[in-house]
Amino acid sequence: GETIGILGGGQLGRMLAMAAAQLGYRCHVFAPEADSIAADVCAAFTRAEWSDAEALARFAADCAVITYEFENVPVAPLGALGDALLLPGANALEVAQDRLSEKAFVSELGGRPAPFAPVDSRADLLAAMARIGTPGVLKTRRDGYDGKGQWRIMTPADAEALGDQVFARPLVYEGFVHFDAEFSVILCRAANGDVRFWDSPENRHDGGILARSTVPAGRKVAGQVGQARQLARAVADRLGYVGVLTCEFFATSASDGGGPVFNEMAPRVHNSGHWTIEGAITSQFENHVRAICGLPLGETRLAAKGVVMDNLIGDAAHDWAAILSDPTNHLHLYGKAAARPGRKMGHVTRLILE
Ligand code: ATP
Ligand code: MG
Ligand code: MG
Repeated sequence: GETIGILGGGQLGRMLAMAAAQLGYRCHVFAPEADSIAADVCAAFTRAEWSDAEALARFAADCAVITYEFENVPVAPLGALGDALLLPGANALEVAQDRLSEKAFVSELGGRPAPFAPVDSRADLLAAMARIGTPGVLKTRRDGYDGKGQWRIMTPADAEALGDQVFARPLVYEGFVHFDAEFSVILCRAANGDVRFWDSPENRHDGGILARSTVPAGRKVAGQVGQARQLARAVADRLGYVGVLTCEFFATSASDGGGPVFNEMAPRVHNSGHWTIEGAITSQFENHVRAICGLPLGETRLAAKGVVMDNLIGDAAHDWAAILSDPTNHLHLYGKAAARPGRKMGHVTRLILE
């Protein structure tokens, strides 16, 4: 079969490669880290820095199509890929890897993010707080994930307590959203413009890290999915997007304006879609592979009455037999060598059958 290139070497790449293997493809991972849990299940691994143009060009020469499993791939060196097919395109990376540009992009399409302002200095932050109010959240514009690079600002004293080094990177301040619930829209768009949505999971975060996704979502989310889908589809169409795209939303009640508030997007398969491996007719990983390889998309409907996906974070669980003693549980372990606090080690998907 042909070779799919994967930029990034984490668990998303690993699960993509497993889906690709089922369809007869070979995968080649490009990542800077010494060991890669994605490369462990792939035919080839290029370990090199993003700035290594020669290594990128050699990698690209081996691949029929190249995709990415995280959005913080620096865009500039990707020029070294030459004419290799990058899907989703670099335009999606560019928009989604900067919180300021993604909020502006989505606003232009009629979406509603929390009120926000760019912050490049302490004075900017004070001005943003005066305009938007407190509480709020200060975030790095780039490179944040799992809630890293974020500071809750409850009072002006919290802003004063921030060290000067916080302002060394471009930031964005956004108003705190008093949401009823969080949910995501996960879609897959084919090159011919076909779009399929999975059921939207309701997502619970713990300390900025996704803890649990539940499908179907609760009543407070259900009424807001339609509008959120419209926005996600508009984002995908505008980008000429190919593959799985995820948009995170806050469901708000009328007292907070009502309707879905856009949080952020991920131009890739997403943790809140892991339940689709067993819980949907076709998983996000398989449909991503189908889309980037020009194959028809699979049915995205639920394959059970409901699904609950729990992340295994840090050294949260070790008793795999106990987890599997419930026959409706599926255990996924990512093969990471060392458990660190806050590190995603695996997940458990429980199917609700009746
Ligand atoms: P991910 O791992 O999803 O990429 P991230 O580091 O990009 O995470 P965000 O999605 O911006 O972080 O925020 C993480 C979580 O923090 C959100 O899911 C939400 O629970 C909370 N949060 C972030 N921004 C706000 C906000 N403006 N108002 C209320 N809660 C927020
Ligand atoms: Mg994020
Ligand atoms: Mg998020």
